[in-house]
Amino acid sequence: MRSGLIPERMSEENQAISANVPAVSVVVPVRDEVESLPHLIEAIASTLSDSQISYEIICVDDGSTDGSAEFLKQQAQIRSDLKAVILRRNYGQTAAMSAGFNYAVGKAVVTLDADLQNDPADIPMLLAKLDEGYDLVSGWRQKRQDGAVNRLLPSKIANWLIRRTTSVYIHDYGCSLKAYRSELVADMNLYGELHRFLPALAYIEGARITEMPVRHHARRFGRSKYGISRTFRVLMDLLTILFMKKFLTRPMHVFGLFGLSSMVLGLGIGIYLTFIKLVMGEMIGNRPLLILAVLLLVTGVQLFCFGLLAELLMRTYHESQGRPIYRVREVVENKNNQT
Ligand code: UDP
Ligand code: MG
Repeated sequence: MRSGLIPERMSEENQAISANVPAVSVVVPVRDEVESLPHLIEAIASTLSDSQISYEIICVDDGSTDGSAEFLKQQAQIRSDLKAVILRRNYGQTAAMSAGFNYAVGKAVVTLDADLQNDPADIPMLLAKLDEGYDLVSGWRQKRQDGAVNRLLPSKIANWLIRRTTSVYIHDYGCSLKAYRSELVADMNLYGELHRFLPALAYIEGARITEMPVRHHARRFGRSKYGISRTFRVLMDLLTILFMKKFLTRPMHVFGLFGLSSMVLGLGIGIYLTFIKLVMGEMIGNRPLLILAVLLLVTGVQLFCFGLLAELLMRTYHESQGRPIYRVREVVENKNNQT
């Protein structure tokens, strides 16, 4: 069941029911962006009210030290369209987004960066696309305004790798500007740098995914929070995703297979050596093959046991859902006049 994201198209009855449910929650992770914030909030508010889309803005302060948290708290007291979620310390962009998802009540969720690199004016277009029946619309940054060597090149390689390995064919995984149907993000658990793999995770959940060209601007204030080291973390997360995609539910299928093959091979060589020693009466103590046999056996047992442990862990993982990866210090919102 889908209802239009744009209020004009809703029936009166629907409008009454959804009086307190905005069409869209805009989730913004914020770390030290105090100069950008006033422009950002104003831009989101004016775009969405001009397009007559009901909205809420959820700014998640991720351990800022430049007064962003204070600014957000103060704004959330006087604005009815802004919720400020203040995390206790810096947890990283992914965790901040995840916190934002948990406080979002809108029918759709849009994420974007606080640094004005994404253009809020693109939001209505993404929502319209979502309305065509997609679960996730990802932005594709045109004319990216970032450094060539330390940003664009790693990003090109990462995009190519992710595209090849996750079988989600979009161009620009790193773009924060994305729109989701809210059910999709409601129960996703995010760790590490996983937010850029949300399309891949969504794909595992069977979502319909598409992309749209969006604008991209150079940073006007502050500086980027990342350097080249992010590439490594992204690669490690890619491995995790790959594993999750293939073997999340049955780790034993991969570890068990390798473990058993290794054990059988080791056992085979061992039997052969025993035969040589006992029947042929040859010395085997100085043969490299003996070392190989022992190595294969030990590795095999290890892998096998590891697979069993992984199975147990996976069960715990699946059955103990619902634990957030962050702790919220406080949530500021204006309860009196909600839009
Ligand atoms: N960010 C965050 N926590 C962090 C690092 C970044 O919430 O630990 C936010 C940051 O404020 C910005 C977004 O994530 O809104 C993207 O960060 P940045 O612009 O530094 O990344 P880039 O655009 O350079 O990839
Ligand atoms: Mg940026």
